[in-house]
Amino acid sequence: MRRPYLIAGNWKMNQGPAQTEAFFGAFSAPSHPEVEALLCVPFVSLQQALAKAGACRIGAQNLHFEENGAYTGEISASMLQEMGVTHVIVGHSERRQYFGETDAIVLRKVKKALEHGLTPILCVGEVLAERKAGAQERVVGAQVDAVFGALSAAERMATVIAYEPVWAIGTGETATPEQAQAMHAFIRSRVPAEVRILYGGSMNAANAEALLSQPDVDGGLIGGASLKPDTFRSIVDTAIRLR
Ligand code: PEP
Repeated sequence: MRRPYLIAGNWKMNQGPAQTEAFFGAFSAPSHPEVEALLCVPFVSLQQALAKAGACRIGAQNLHFEENGAYTGEISASMLQEMGVTHVIVGHSERRQYFGETDAIVLRKVKKALEHGLTPILCVGEVLAERKAGAQERVVGAQVDAVFGALSAAERMATVIAYEPVWAIGTGETATPEQAQAMHAFIRSRVPAEVRILYGGSMNAANAEALLSQPDVDGGLIGGASLKPDTFRSIVDTAIRLR
């Protein structure tokens, strides 16, 4: 089955409104039927990104699981929907590690995003000690099942998964294409064939081709290498070349 590639950038807490304008002054996403480009930018940069995005989709990096109310500092799914955001990252390892997000919270956020027509990008991945202990399938399987086990068939199909080995995020250490493929195939066995599974963890212009060539790697979730227009574009172009 040919799933369209999704090349997604995660800017994390980088690039405010002025830098976002400058980025989109130098970046344009090609229109391609089988390659989608997406940038998940900070909340305060959404307006600038949406105004200049062209063919690039714009996403957020987090949302709250309640509809609205007394949750100081939080952003709701309906606010993102109103702005024109199409995707939202949920359960990134940094949110799990620094903000105490559990599988139960992640599930509520995924559900809330789906209720509002936003595509959740559900992040899963093992930490280094778990990989060293050979526990990656147990850990990642549990993270996937905790969410997918509670979704309807339609909700599953509308969700994207990002496999991000935590030991490879922002470290310059990348999973080998074989390691990535093995985990993606494992995740694939638990979800519908149409669900896209992105790889994340130090993907860059140099290693994108080897990773994206793997049969179960349907795109990338890219942190550091998405901050520069030319490097991000070069990963998008690699995906286009592979199609
Ligand atoms: C990420 O932020 O999800 C990520 C994979 O970061 P990096 O590409 O910098 O490792």
